[in-house]
Amino acid sequence: MSADKKTLLVTGGSRGIGAAICRQASRAGYRVAVNYVTNRTAAEALVSELEAAGGEAFAVKGDVGSEADVVAMFEAVDKGLGRLDAFVNNAGIVDVKARVDEMSAERVERMMSINVVGSFLCAREAVKRMSTRHGGKGGAIVSLSSAAARLGSPGEYVDYAASKGAIDTLTIGLAREVVLEGIRVNAVSPGITETEIHASGGQPDRVARMQAMLPMKRAGTADEVASAVLYLLSDAASYITGAILNVSGGR
Ligand code: NAP
Repeated sequence: MSADKKTLLVTGGSRGIGAAICRQASRAGYRVAVNYVTNRTAAEALVSELEAAGGEAFAVKGDVGSEADVVAMFEAVDKGLGRLDAFVNNAGIVDVKARVDEMSAERVERMMSINVVGSFLCAREAVKRMSTRHGGKGGAIVSLSSAAARLGSPGEYVDYAASKGAIDTLTIGLAREVVLEGIRVNAVSPGITETEIHASGGQPDRVARMQAMLPMKRAGTADEVASAVLYLLSDAASYITGAILNVSGGR
């Protein structure tokens, strides 16, 4: 294991935006821990791809909606790759289209458990490792918010939009909480991005259906979102904390 490399953990790193972040980070010289929850094949294929290109990577299973899994995931990264320098709170879910007056408690609780509680627990574990208050050497955290936090997603998934509003507030509050402890905390807020998340919410045609309504007449790519994440993790962003960077093509 080379000593000069930084270690990064990306939740939901196996596919979509997370996988693009892992690829760009590996090319930039990070050791990368690729978290997944069910799709071991995708995570292992990505690790093999990164290793074949000369990178150091490691797949780690864990459901961010489970506190025991989150704790075990961070411990596995400590053992597998060493001290954590950077963390990306990327894992997130949508659900099928529904109005608020149709939502069950189970649906809203699942959304909040994975997107909000999961992000808080992962941020907690990252801070425990990075903060100078806990003997750490500092670091950078980036979370994936969404333009939905500003737009509200009416008739589609207000629960998802609200979960991303919570990510924005987590970003602002945590950034100020740890600003003197060597940690920068920021968020990237993508607009519609081409990944499999839309199909997982029962709308495989969502990008095709909506692109004419977008200012650039196209969705963003996972790589375009990942570039912003890598910038915020990097020393080039050394005076940026508590920022929410829109990567939404003017939307
Ligand atoms: P995606 O293609 O659906 O990929 C989701 C990733 O998260 C997969 O790696 C999946 O693992 C993992 N995951 C799902 N539930 C998890 C859990 N409970 N614990 C751990 N990992 C879990 O999603 P994406 O489009 O790349 O989205 C990434 C982030 O960007 C999300 O936070 C999303 O809300 C946000 N975002 C996306 C868009 C968009 O249009 N795509 C727009 C704005 C914001 P498996 O491979 O094991 O299933």
